[in-house]
Amino acid sequence: MQFGLLAIFMGTVSGAGAMGIFGKKEDGEIDRNAFPFKLSQAEWEAKLDKMQYHVLRKAGTERAFSSPLYNEHRQGVFHCAGCDQALFSSEHKFDSGTGWPSFWQPISKEAVGEDVDHKLGYARTETHCSNCGGHLGHIFQDGPQPTGLRYCINGVALIFQPTV
Ligand SMILES: [Zn+2]
Repeated sequence: MQFGLLAIFMGTVSGAGAMGIFGKKEDGEIDRNAFPFKLSQAEWEAKLDKMQYHVLRKAGTERAFSSPLYNEHRQGVFHCAGCDQALFSSEHKFDSGTGWPSFWQPISKEAVGEDVDHKLGYARTETHCSNCGGHLGHIFQDGPQPTGLRYCINGVALIFQPTV
């Protein structure tokens, strides 16, 4: 009985928390369909390959060292694989040793959004494209100066356009 009451109490608390946050679904994840660039689920599945869909639309993570963009050192701009918005510049890319393309800041503050997720049982800051809501990766506090941030990004979420 006590456990039942506790569950009800906790359900009420988390429910109230979720309701107070704009654009959040009941499970606490952001609503990736509530962004300016919208496609139907069928259109997303047709546009993206399986791994891109898993990462961008389902907040999945690619295997470390699986992206050719991890070792991309040319000058250029990294665009969103979902909607083509410019997200990161080669000027802010660094070798983090983690196996995921890493940047110390996005190309502009407006290009990416942030949210807190609890997928691994503790709070992490996730980052997503501000135009289509596509999940990109996570932000950690162990990056290089001047920001001290590490945007740890899935390479499949990005399309690189080298400067010619
Ligand atoms: Zn996008």
